[in-house]
Amino acid sequence: MTYGGPGEPEGLATRTGGIPLTPAGTTWPHCATCHGPMQFLAQIVLDDLNRPMDSGNKQDGGVMAIFMCQNDPGMCDEWSPIAGGNRALLFPADGLAPMSAPTPGENDEEVLRLGAVSAVTLVPSPAADYFSAREEWASRSGNELRNVLGQLGGQPDWLQGDETPRCSTCTHPMDLVAQFEEGPDHSTAMNFGGCGTAFAFTCAPCVQAAFLWQC
Ligand SMILES: [Zn+2]
Ligand SMILES: [Zn+2]
Repeated sequence: MTYGGPGEPEGLATRTGGIPLTPAGTTWPHCATCHGPMQFLAQIVLDDLNRPMDSGNKQDGGVMAIFMCQNDPGMCDEWSPIAGGNRALLFPADGLAPMSAPTPGENDEEVLRLGAVSAVTLVPSPAADYFSAREEWASRSGNELRNVLGQLGGQPDWLQGDETPRCSTCTHPMDLVAQFEEGPDHSTAMNFGGCGTAFAFTCAPCVQAAFLWQC
């Protein structure tokens, strides 16, 4: 996933920032620790993976929406897949609409949203792993490494040890949907501890998702 310029805030596309698209009636996720509303980080259109969600669940495609608490950065175990400081939600692609912010006017905009919307341009890579793919793309295209937003699918490139989460329903190891860098512009980037990297996983048969990061 490479930086594709400013994105459409309400677009049904894989992007970071902007406004989450959700089914009607979805409530804005709140943090389990501080109980404040989370920040919307990214939306992934799962069809971009060419790996449809399990058809037995009638989840053809769909989207993942990722949220993380930024009310008191570093204090809500935002990195953890299970502590409730972040949420990864899965929705069917049909009937999505821009989500209203919770209690308008009560929260700072930056607590709820990133300062920029980044479009994602998908670039296939012949490299064997994500680390090599980043280097290969940067040198081939003449771009800076910071314009790599992450990877879609593939294998996690862990900064620390392997922390592949297990599905809370079936207990099997979950599959990587995307790995995210913090973003090309520090002032509007996602906060994964500074130079961290984040991982979004699903268990397609159970329609479960999880998010974590390392730095
Ligand atoms: Zn919190
Ligand atoms: Zn499962």
